[in-house]
Amino acid sequence: MAEEKQFDLTVIGSGPGGYVASIRAAQLGLKVACIEKAPSLGGTCLRVGCIPSKALLESSAHFMFAGKQLAQHGVVVERPKLDLNRMMKRKQQTVNMLGKGVETLFKKNKVELICGTARILGSGSLEVESADNTSTLVHSKHILIATGSQPVSLPSVPFDGERIVSSAEALSFENVPEHLVVIGGGYIGLELGSVWKRLGSRVTVLEMRPQIFPGMDGETALEAQRILHRQGLEFEFGKKVTSAMRNGDQCQIALEGGDTIECSHILVAVGRKPFLEGLGLDSIGVQLDSEGKVQVSKGFETNIPGIYALGDLVSGPMLAHKAEEEAVAFAETLCGETRSVDYQHIPSVVYTHPELAMVGATEESLKEASTAYRKGVFHFRANGRARASGAVDGWVKMLADEASDQILGVHILGENAGELIHEIVVAMKFKATSQDLARICHAHPTFSETVKESALAVSDRTIHS
Ligand code: FAD
Repeated sequence: MAEEKQFDLTVIGSGPGGYVASIRAAQLGLKVACIEKAPSLGGTCLRVGCIPSKALLESSAHFMFAGKQLAQHGVVVERPKLDLNRMMKRKQQTVNMLGKGVETLFKKNKVELICGTARILGSGSLEVESADNTSTLVHSKHILIATGSQPVSLPSVPFDGERIVSSAEALSFENVPEHLVVIGGGYIGLELGSVWKRLGSRVTVLEMRPQIFPGMDGETALEAQRILHRQGLEFEFGKKVTSAMRNGDQCQIALEGGDTIECSHILVAVGRKPFLEGLGLDSIGVQLDSEGKVQVSKGFETNIPGIYALGDLVSGPMLAHKAEEEAVAFAETLCGETRSVDYQHIPSVVYTHPELAMVGATEESLKEASTAYRKGVFHFRANGRARASGAVDGWVKMLADEASDQILGVHILGENAGELIHEIVVAMKFKATSQDLARICHAHPTFSETVKESALAVSDRTIHS
């Protein structure tokens, strides 16, 4: 007979959405369980997403820097050798340590972890099937689905887990691919493409559309593409893949129009879709939207009372920090507070070198909405710290409302962009104008002076350009 348990809230999935919701709800006094089917906690983000990709980006950047740039600083070392095994071990240690950290946080906050695969039976009850085939019947006043997303596959390019892969496997290649073709010029493809290029692969990016980073500020994406091209990434635009096949150690890609490309590995990075398999949502009648995501109200409740959803499987950007914001808003709302997520001010960061970070409107979206705006651009090459560091690529581009001067959007391509953007997020949250930012003292010499100067540039008052 199945063991039975009772909770106020049961969360399915321990990614940034699920574990944060579990912890916050427990802090607010609910009896909480979190169910996870994978052997370690933290979801896509920790296991095969944000964290392992950033560990490899960091390690590969050191390898490239040691080989190509150290000498410019007068530091002469022998040609660096790659120990891929050790690099992968370090990545895995980071992942394991952070996964254990979530386990510790669960214990500290008295969240009960149930290991196994959950299936919802209806409002208030679910079943968990463990790896050892035992099952648990869980009764729960509230159920939160936070099962995240999975890579979109192309039916004509079937994954084989070795040579034709998704991002999960591309984070763990045992050898440096000779020639990696990345299908898709979004952030996942370009971050992983950058890793393998730095470690010695030839990397070709195939993108159906005319630019990389679709949906981002066009001018900034184009500049990023020029810089990545200079780093050796090859780009083919307007190329639609019709099929691909593996033949031993080689792969062949067929393109619309008859062209073919030979390569050693293929990374399919054409997006992600909600992971809803095995949850039993069909049988209980949970409604999905036109994108196949779970439809929820402001309090994250689905059409079935007592069943909620958030994170990658509901509408909005598929980002870990978006899932975390939703998780806190969900838990606090459930416990009687009135909370919502400010979707206007969610920053996005691409961790290529240099980084790309943005928040708010793009120039294209302002034009489309016929919003009159002023634009200020300041280049990193005119910044003292950037010169001293040898990090002169990129710019800060600020867009402000023509009439009110309120900041509407900022796009940073440059060193530490992922950190610099948060000054802008705070400023925009408090409805700051470009003049407000321009009048704030920024320490010298810092990269953050580029932000101040871009604010000055909105009204043609830059000092250093
Ligand atoms: P997930 O993190 O996907 O977690 C869902 C969990 O649910 C999983 O652990 C899964 O095992 C579990 N689960 C599923 N079904 C069941 C079931 N039936 N029973 C029990 N458990 C179940 N985002 C950023 O913000 N910054 C980045 O730099 C970044 N880099 C990324 C790099 C890569 C290569 C990838 C793939 C993604 C990256 N992301 C990044 C996206 C980020 O990982 C996701 O947005 C985030 O993990 C979503 O969180 P989530 O809680 O919704 O779901």
